Amino acid sequence: MTSPFAVPREEQPFVDAARDLAPRFAAAADEHDHEATLPVANLTALHEAGLDLAVMPRDRGGRGLSYQALGEILRIVGRACPSTACVWTMHLGAAQALVGHGPPVYAEELAAGKRFANALSEPTGGNLFLMPLQRAQPVDGGFRLDGAKRFVSGCEIADYFLVNALLEDGPAFFGVSRDDSIELVSIWDSMGLRGTRSQLVEFRDTLLRHENRCHIVDPTAPNIIALGLPWLSIGVAEAALEACTDHARKRVVPSTGRPVGDMQWVHFDAADAHVKLLAARTLAERSMWLADRNAPGALDAAVEAKLYANQVAKEIAEFALRVGGGSGFLRSSPIQRHFRDAQAGALMAFSVEVCRDMIGKRLTGGDQPG
Ligand SMILES: Cc1cc2nc3c(=O)[nH]c(=O)nc-3n(C[C@H](O)[C@H](O)[C@H](O)COP(=O)(O)OP(=O)(O)OC[C@H]3O[C@@H](n4cnc5c(N)ncnc54)[C@H](O)[C@@H]3O)c2cc1C
Repeated sequence: MTSPFAVPREEQPFVDAARDLAPRFAAAADEHDHEATLPVANLTALHEAGLDLAVMPRDRGGRGLSYQALGEILRIVGRACPSTACVWTMHLGAAQALVGHGPPVYAEELAAGKRFANALSEPTGGNLFLMPLQRAQPVDGGFRLDGAKRFVSGCEIADYFLVNALLEDGPAFFGVSRDDSIELVSIWDSMGLRGTRSQLVEFRDTLLRHENRCHIVDPTAPNIIALGLPWLSIGVAEAALEACTDHARKRVVPSTGRPVGDMQWVHFDAADAHVKLLAARTLAERSMWLADRNAPGALDAAVEAKLYANQVAKEIAEFALRVGGGSGFLRSSPIQRHFRDAQAGALMAFSVEVCRDMIGKRLTGGDQPG
């Protein structure tokens, strides 16, 4: 019997395209991490495989790919090269907002291979990107923004930024083309996801044009970033578990003369890791299923899926490091990279703490006035 969360058969070629690219992405992942270089060739390959446009709405020239298929693709890409998956998620998320709610030019530019980035997180309130604090002042033709956004993945190759700002009547989102008023400040010497090159972006009296305003009616509606980020952590967790079990089978412990994987604590923890990963994937699939049906609760489900996937990725990567021992601690082992990469998902908005706060408040009524 097929799973209710299976990718629709007609969308399988898109998943197969990602699966075909994955070995190439995996082969270059260590180098992108070590050198902290953007995986530009991978991003180009995803575009050339038709995957950028596939996830856009049909009435904007896309294929209206289901969230379920997108999740599966992000899992495959994230397992092979999480930096690629992260930059690509941000690119698709910014494009989704601008193509879906901005002027038609953005759909044409996406189809032509132009690159998009999310410049939303502010230095003073990273997790609160739906509530920007930086004010834009009204001027002829739009608003001027003098401020900065932090951790903008893939900003160095971005042609367009999705930027938020506070206007008189509340938060607003704009598409902004790269110009001389935008300066990138190099801050990204990070412990993980080093290939995302998520720098600080300064906007110096940058014009936010009226015509490029993105009329997002409900910023809390299902969207690629909220729904996609759990899959990034699932991909990292799968890669960590694979490296872990591979090491457990091959490494013979001198004190026992037997492989690491023969020890009972390894059996127990491997079983827990396997089942938790299945659970994380099921939660993420459930959120995609709800989003594909535009069902109430899809975004709550995405928050639940992100919380669990982020935590499971960190736990599994830590288990892999224990199994790896000193060998796993060396740069020559993939385990150390998975361990470092696994930390990022929990920090990215909404962070694990913010997710726990949101879910807990919903349960206990902590957000009710009085
Ligand atoms: C690899 C990576 C890529 C990223 N890419 C992008 C990108 O492309 N575009 C973009 O705009 N941003 C991006 N970000 C930023 C990210 O989404 C977060 O906004 C950012 O990491 C938050 O960091 P901060 O230092 O501002 O944390 P803070 O918000 O200062 O949080 C500090 C601590 O307080 C906790 N905390 C904060 N608020 C609350 C709360 N209300 N309740 C409980 N706990 C709270 C946090 O969980 C954390 O533990 C990226 C981040 C990373 C790590």
